[in-house]
Order: sequence, then C-alpha cells, then structure tokens
Amino acid sequence: MGIKVGIDLGTTFSAVAVYDEKAGKPVIIKNPEGERITPSVIHFEDDGEIVVGSEAKESFESGEPGCISVFKRSMGDSSPYCTIKGKSYTAEDLSAILLSFLKKSTEQVCSQEIDEAVVTVPAYFYQQERAATMRAAHRAGLNVRQIINEPVAAAMTYAVSHWRENAVIMVYDLGGGTFDVTMVQMQEYGVMRSLETTGNHILGGKDWDEALTELIKSKLLEETGIDADSSPILSRTVIRQAEIIKKKLTQFDSTELRLKLPDYGEYKLTVTLDEFNAATRPLLERTGSLCLNLLEGLRLGWEDVTDILLVGGSTRMRQVPAYLRELSGHDPISHVDPDEAVALGAAIQVHLPAPEYLVTKVPDAKDEAFTGRIRMKKTKASSEESVLENALSIRCTDIVAHAMGIIAVNDAGTHYINKTIIPANQQIPCKCAEAFRFYTTEDGKNEMEIYVLQGTAAPAECNITGKYRVTGIPHDKHNNPRIIRIQYSYDINAMIHVQARLEGSERDLPIREETPEQDISRFARPIAPGELSVVQDNSLSVMLALDVSGSMRGSPIRNAKKAMCSFVDKMKKKGGDVRIGVMVVSDNTLVCQELTSDLESCKAAIKEIKVEMTGIGNAWHPFYKINDLMKELKGKRYAVVLADGVWMNPARAVDAARECHENGIEIIGMGFGDADEKFMRNITFGSMDSIMLEGSKELEMGFGTIAQEISAVSSTKQQSGKAGAETAAETWTAINELQIGRRQ
Ligand code: ADP
Ligand code: MG
Repeated sequence: MGIKVGIDLGTTFSAVAVYDEKAGKPVIIKNPEGERITPSVIHFEDDGEIVVGSEAKESFESGEPGCISVFKRSMGDSSPYCTIKGKSYTAEDLSAILLSFLKKSTEQVCSQEIDEAVVTVPAYFYQQERAATMRAAHRAGLNVRQIINEPVAAAMTYAVSHWRENAVIMVYDLGGGTFDVTMVQMQEYGVMRSLETTGNHILGGKDWDEALTELIKSKLLEETGIDADSSPILSRTVIRQAEIIKKKLTQFDSTELRLKLPDYGEYKLTVTLDEFNAATRPLLERTGSLCLNLLEGLRLGWEDVTDILLVGGSTRMRQVPAYLRELSGHDPISHVDPDEAVALGAAIQVHLPAPEYLVTKVPDAKDEAFTGRIRMKKTKASSEESVLENALSIRCTDIVAHAMGIIAVNDAGTHYINKTIIPANQQIPCKCAEAFRFYTTEDGKNEMEIYVLQGTAAPAECNITGKYRVTGIPHDKHNNPRIIRIQYSYDINAMIHVQARLEGSERDLPIREETPEQDISRFARPIAPGELSVVQDNSLSVMLALDVSGSMRGSPIRNAKKAMCSFVDKMKKKGGDVRIGVMVVSDNTLVCQELTSDLESCKAAIKEIKVEMTGIGNAWHPFYKINDLMKELKGKRYAVVLADGVWMNPARAVDAARECHENGIEIIGMGFGDADEKFMRNITFGSMDSIMLEGSKELEMGFGTIAQEISAVSSTKQQSGKAGAETAAETWTAINELQIGRRQ
C-alpha cells in the first residue's frame, strides 16, 4: 500500500506532507537534500537535463540561462511561459515537471509510492487555473483526490492543535505575488467552516520588492547624483538585490548595499527598516482595507475575531504583524510555520471524506437576502483551547471565492448582463438548476450556447470561464418550445460543471465545451433594436371568460361551450406555444382552468361549465381576475369575454378592463342577445373590434374569426423566429424567458 500526501504547490517554494498515524498529526516529508521545502525553480541545463529545487535556484541566482521560476502566476494561460532551445512551455507544463519531481523525490525518501494526493491552490484561483493545476498533477502521474484552498489548509493545521469551539480565525495570506484573506470558524463537532474570502490577485511580496527598488534608486540619485536607470547593469543589480535587502530587514533594523557605480567605484548605500516601512505602507494598507471589507461583509467587528493567522512568506516582514496589531488590537499568531502550514493541512484533507453537494436556490439579482448565502451568527469564542483528539476528527467546509454567472439579456432587451447563478462565498460543492424555454426549428436549430462567467462584473469585463454548447435538442413537431433544465455546479474543487436535460427526461443532453472567442466586445455593446427580434416570445395566452348568468340557460350555454371547444381545437391545430385558460363570471368569478398548454384539459373544463355556477345575476365582471392572472406573462395575451346581457356597474368593469389593456392584455368582447354594443366596445379599447352577434348560433363563427385573427398576429412572429441564424443572443434571451416560466 502506498501513501497519501498533501502538496503545497507554491509560487516560490513547494512542500509535501503526510499524515503520521502514530503521532496523530501531519508531518513534512523532506526532499532528498534534507530540506523541508523545495524551491519552485526549474533549470533546463545545456545538456538537456532538467534540475528542480535548490540547485536550480542557485543557478538562477547566479544568472545562468535556462532557469525558470514564479510560473505559477501564469497558471491557466495557454500561451507559453518560456521557450527553451526552441521548445515552448506553459505554466502548466512547468508545474507538471515540478510536481513529477516532488512525486519522485517523495517516493524515493519514503520508499513508497504515492497513491493519492491533495494539491493546494490560492483561494482566488479561477476555473482555468484550477483546471490547469489538475491537469499538471495528472500529467505528473498523481492521482488527485481534491484541490483545496491554501488558506483553508493552513487554518486546518492551526485548528487541530488550537481547537476552540466558535473561535473565528482570520487567515491573512501574503505570498510572493498574491494576497488573500479568509475567515473561518471552528464550529461544533470539529467542523471548520470557511465563511468568506477575498483578496487581490496582483498584490504580494513582489510589490514590496518593487517599492524597495524604487526607494534604493531614489536614495542613490539623491546621494550620488547617479540615475540607476541610465545603466542597465546597475538597474538589474538593484532589482536583484531588493528581495535580499527586504529579507535582511526582517532581521536587522538597517542594512547595507554595495554597488559598483560607473565612473564612481564602489558605493555603500544604507537602507533602514523605517525607510522601507514608510515606502511600502500604502501596500500594507491595501491588505488592511481588504480585511475590513471582509469583516464588513460578515457584519463582524475586530472584537469578534479570535485569532489572526499569518500565512505566506511575506508575513515574515516585521511590518505585517505590527500593522495588524495596530489595526485590530490583536497580536497575530505565528504558531504555524507559514512555509509548511499549507502542505500539512492538505495532508489532513487527503484522509477526510469528501463533502456532499449542497443544492442552492437561484438568487434573484434584486433579492439581497439570498437565503442560500452562509450568514454567521455572532458568537463569542470560548477561551478554552484544546487539541482535537486526532487531526482526522476535523471536518472542513470550504467556499468558492468567485460568483458563477451566465451572459443573459436584461429585462428591457437592451443590454447583455452577467446574471449570477451561484454567488461568491457559497459553500462548495453546490448545484443550482434553471429551466427555460428554447425554440428549436425543423431546419436544425437544435443547439444552444451557454457562456459561463466568474465574478460579477459586466460580461465583457469578466473572466469568461467557459462556453458550453448543448447539442441534440430534439425538435417538437408542433413547434412547441422545449423546456431545458440547465444545472450549474461547483464541485469540491470549486470547478465548474454544466449539465443540460430536457424537462422530465432522465438523460443528459450532450454538451460540448468550446474555447470562448477572444473578442467578446460585442457583449459590451447595446443590443440594437431588432437584433433580438428573432427571439421574441412567440407564446400565446388566451383566457376565455364566459357569462354564466341565468339568461344563458338553454341553447346559449350549449352553443357557447361548443364554440369554445372548437376554438380550442383550432388553436391546437395552429400549433406553437399556446396556453388557454377558462373562467366563468356572473355574480362572481371562477377560474375553471388556469392557463395551460394542455388543451385537452381546457376542453374538459369547458364541458363542465354550468349556468349559474357563480350565481344568477350579472353583479360582477371578469377583469380583475384576468389582470391578476395575465399581467405578468410575456408573449401575446388575449382575453375573450363572452356576454349576453348588461353588466351591473359597467363603469367599474370598463375601468378594470382598461387596466388589463394597459398591462398589454388585449380584450376581445363578444356580445349577443341583450348585450350592449357600446359597453362591449368600451371594454375592448379598439385593440381588436368587439364582435356583436345576432344570436348564440353565431358564436362558433365568431370564435372562428377570433382564432383566425389571433393566429395571423402570432404566426408573423413565429416566422421571424425561424428566420434568424442561431446566435448567442438568441440563446440568452431564451435564458431570460425562464423568469416568466418561474413566475407562472
Ligand atoms: P507563494 O505562496 O506565492 O509561493 P510564499 O508564501 O512562499 O509565496 O512567499 C514568498 C514571498 O515571501 C516572496 O515574496 C519572498 O520574498 C517573501 N519572503 C520570504 N521570506 C521572507 C523574509 N524572511 N522576509 C521578507 N519576505 C520574505
Ligand atoms: Mg504559498
């Protein structure tokens, strides 16, 4: 049997750890040189040999060609990170080399094979970066059980030896090129829960090096009048020395730098800790404001934070703990080695069961209080510290740093928007499904595109994570839209998956993942009028409202029911997305059948209609109910109102009918018998003339006319729907339609 390891694949250093069962805790596995951490540096030597680790770092520092470092910053980029002897390497290729070195050296030291590994990544890593890390590990021959976030791994290492129920830990991780800050809580039963995370992708030790470089250059200019930028050699020396000086200032209050100046000779330049601190204070404050954002987001104050845990090599700078003390009033803890904590945590995680999926609700952009969001209640941490019985009794729940969104069209149809599907800081793994109507055509428009984004910025400014093409959507011969259910998920690695199904089907539709186009500027432009006409909602809703007062007794009601049934048949023959509802009115209203596309059940409801179902007189009108049921719907909407007499309080009825009209519901009045022609005209607002009939025998003809007119109006839309080529815009409007679907 082999071993299970945790691997911290760092920008500057990497480390490997294993869980020691006898000790009940994880331990670092040294590399064959006896070092606890391995520099993430690769040297492609002249003779073709590849050297990794300390030896490569030494070569790098002495300026030998073919040395490559800090490639993790470009993880996920498809363009080459470097080209050595004509061969290009991406950050993923280089990471695969580094990981395979770590695997081989660990197996050599332990004399056992690695069965499984947990690899760590920065919390802010996007999909592409995570996917590239995963691929690199596979290529190195590692069986990756999970990818976990570095701050969480570090917090686990700390938590197992300093367990306090309800303690809230702020993990402040300042590495070589990045900063992130994460809040975790030690909850009951050894559950360690990530609450929220934030950070800056491009803020790290490197920025301190650059600020120090500038400080040295300006001091040099001031003291000697020499501009370092005028000499490339001098400039390079200053840059190379900056990181060394920075590290010296961790130990000493001032340090000297010896420089060979052109036409000047050697010069000794002194840099003090105070000067360095002053020059880099703005950088430190940027980390501070992110910490404050995090607290604010969780509605916590510094008094709620039990500990601040420092992770990452740059937290060794003395200014970091001093600043955090000043900001928070807490002494940050340094119980864990910032270089080792991450690998140790990963070595614990590799033995823990994987967490289960959490199904989340689709958040509404307007709905601030999204219930799926983890909100922490304020708890006072108990001061009693304990060591968990065994490191493996800990359970960890993690979150995803980036929201997942899709490109959709705004309600007004004027702009593309980033519609959030899963918000940032959602617990992972999680799933979220949406259903929407999609119009296929006979001539093969049976594919749809989905653009998935990470972050909440506008589509064109966002990280387009993936383009998914759902294929093989079967065409409905009646031209009815297909209801497609798309399921988006973040798995335990915070990696995105998209699945699609026909509503009611048990099988997934095929999905092809495509490379998103480079130029996505079209999503930044307003949508031109007509550009999306191809995706107008072709649906048609018709509410049939029948007068069932006493005067309808006998042949009028029989003829009306017959005419209504044949109307339903005509609409069914017409095809398309038609929904019909049935209601009756006299002294009251009653909905016999809600709007439905199941037209047979409409007919069944019509057949059940009886005179005086809602009373004998004409005290009431149907328009309040019609408005309630139809005002929110999209597509074409009609109410066909059938009356044979005079309604009481016609003014009230006309007012209510006007409201329907203003909400886009067209009213068609059909009067016969004692119906008042003027009143019938008043309730239709000229949208489509009211029809006055001689008697109930003519109802069938009247309904025939209406069916024809409605079909004529909607089929022009249907035609234009077919005319357009398949575009992303179409797809996205289809997505938007889902909102109607849900409202119904
Ligand atoms: P990463 O996780 O990005 O690989 P690390 O956590 O290893 O980064 O931190 C690397 C950074 O820490 C570098 O910028 C390095 O200069 C800085 N660093 C390491 N040791 C010290 C030190 N003693 N004093 C100041 N900075 C240090
Ligand atoms: Mg690190």
